[in-house]
Parts: sequence; C-alpha cells; structure tokens
Amino acid sequence: VTGLTTHGACGATWKQHGNRTGHCGVCHRTFEGSGLFDWHQELQADGSVICRDPSRPEFAKKGLRFLDGTWRGPEWARNVFAEEVAS
Ligand SMILES: [Zn+2]
Ligand SMILES: [Zn+2]
Repeated sequence: VTGLTTHGACGATWKQHGNRTGHCGVCHRTFEGSGLFDWHQELQADGSVICRDPSRPEFAKKGLRFLDGTWRGPEWARNVFAEEVAS
C-alpha cells in the first residue's frame, strides 16, 4: 500500500514508496530513489553536508522533475553530477 506521508515539522506531503522515498530533515525536500537522495547531500571537505538545490536549471536539463511532492529523475551513476558541479 502506498500512502501519503506528511512531515509535521515542515508540513510537506508526499507519496511514500517503501525505502525508495527519502525526506531530508535539513532542507525538507523529498527524493524518490536512494541514489538521488544521496546525490543531493554534497559532502564537504570538513565532513559537513550541504544540500544541493534540485531546482537549479542545470539539473532540470538533466531530467530532474518535481512530481507529487517528490524530486525524481533518471537513475544516474553517482558521479555524473559531482563532476559537473565541481567544474
Ligand atoms: Zn537536504
Ligand atoms: Zn520536512
């Protein structure tokens, strides 16, 4: 059964698909697919994490879409974006 989930702290609502759907407690965005969730948390040299903004135009061009309260996109290899963001 796929149900709607709401995070009380921010009021966001999304469709939860088992453990494929992840809601970030820092930026309060919801991601479909564990690879996408990991991608949005950019690890800094000092060990802290910065949340990437998936609404940036360069990501939209890659197929990221906001649908039913979640960010989703193609199943990328993890490093596809890391290289572009760093350059
Ligand atoms: Zn986040
Ligand atoms: Zn939240």
